[in-house]
Amino acid sequence: MENEIRVRFAPSPTGYLHIGGARTAVYNWLFAKKHNGKFILRIEDTDTERSTEASTEGILDGLRWLGILWDEGPNLQSNNIEKHKKIALKLLSTGHAYKCFCTKEGLDARRELAKEEKRAYKYEKTCTNLTEDEIKEKESKGMPFVVRFKVPEGEGSVIFKDVVYGINEKKYEDIEDFVILRSDGSPLYLLSNAVDDINDRITHVIRGQDGLANTPRQILIYEALGITPPVFAHMPLTLDTKKEKISKRKHGEVVAVQFYREKGFIPWALVNFLVLLGWHTSDDREIFTREELIDAFTLEGVSKSNSIFNYKPGDPKFFTDPKALSINATYLRSMPVEELNVYLKPLFMNAGLWRDEYESVKKNWFNKTIDLIRSRYHTLNDFVNLGRAYFSDEFPVDEAASKKNILKHPHLKDIFPLLAERLGECPAWEISDIEATIRQFIEEKAENPGTVINGIRTVVSGQSVGPGLFELIEVIGKERVIERLKNTLVLYK
Ligand code: GLU
Repeated sequence: MENEIRVRFAPSPTGYLHIGGARTAVYNWLFAKKHNGKFILRIEDTDTERSTEASTEGILDGLRWLGILWDEGPNLQSNNIEKHKKIALKLLSTGHAYKCFCTKEGLDARRELAKEEKRAYKYEKTCTNLTEDEIKEKESKGMPFVVRFKVPEGEGSVIFKDVVYGINEKKYEDIEDFVILRSDGSPLYLLSNAVDDINDRITHVIRGQDGLANTPRQILIYEALGITPPVFAHMPLTLDTKKEKISKRKHGEVVAVQFYREKGFIPWALVNFLVLLGWHTSDDREIFTREELIDAFTLEGVSKSNSIFNYKPGDPKFFTDPKALSINATYLRSMPVEELNVYLKPLFMNAGLWRDEYESVKKNWFNKTIDLIRSRYHTLNDFVNLGRAYFSDEFPVDEAASKKNILKHPHLKDIFPLLAERLGECPAWEISDIEATIRQFIEEKAENPGTVINGIRTVVSGQSVGPGLFELIEVIGKERVIERLKNTLVLYK
């Protein structure tokens, strides 16, 4: 289709899918969706030393989990090497490139000299104007050569308008005649990347800001081939709170997409968070459905300034950017429970907490309980960790809660079994009856209501915070609550 918008995500499979890369993928995907275009996935695997299949698998897996699905691909760059070479040879035959016989040793020495003289080194174009005969002679001697792109000489410059960073200008004289084919005939990345974009008919190159330095040279390749370059849109970098680029080495797994799956993120919540790293609407809206986001997203809304991943390593309170957690919490607290259950079921199964009756006779109870406890949770994992007491008789008691609410009040072990008996006599297991029974008990015993209420909560749910106590007691169920109160003594051991 003519005029079709075609964008691509082109990761190098040299590690896991990083949140910065994932964000670039999301921006490309959104742009394609918005314009009814195509989103192409290209795996740039030509660095054979660093690329691994496991990494490719991880990238595909991460994108699938996020729901960022591609329309074409994955195309492996390594399958296209012959095409890259062909273009290099075409540039050679049209005089836009030339054979350079300078030896590595010679170049190193010249580079070294420049360094000593404190000037920037740029290839001197030694081989630019070799005559046919000179070239033949060198070739006949079997001298190895690389192919260099011939940057136009003279006053001109490459000028292009980046959608995010605006007008960029690079003078020809500041661009070295760059190598496009190595002496073994293999193409260099800069060329391969541009040729693949040409072959994939990419209309918009949306990539990380670190690609900006390559753009003038790539535009020269387009121009030499007589092809209109795509629109370029470079995305700001993602930095940490110390303004350093985020990386696995410095930040660990918190920058990997997979980490968020393990920690109990809803995939769309992570997409929503990633999008806001470097893009916003004029009213700074934070939560978007898929359709709303596709509708609202524009490349012009991407900010020039680097975005901050607000994560402080070692902060015990937050294992990631608090905003990521709060967005995830918003989703899991507001989505229809049935939808949430789709995510929860595998987690419950893994934790040994799943019972098929949650989908049949106990469906209403399960849904009600999930709805009740979610109001304080931030991740899906919270349901099976913090919420274990709702679904199992074996659950951990939070240490701080136990210290504060149980151990400090030794008399609770004597009165809770009495309260258990009293609750056993509750005519109906309903919030109003439960509340009346407990309040009456507190009054009779002249107890401090706070102490009793916090104590019950900890004994029955293992936590110091949670939903309203009487609702909590109702859903946990009569038998379980009575059993737990009777056994309060065990918490003192
Ligand atoms: N393979 C490059 C990277 O992972 C992509 C550069 C581009 O998108 O043009 O950084």
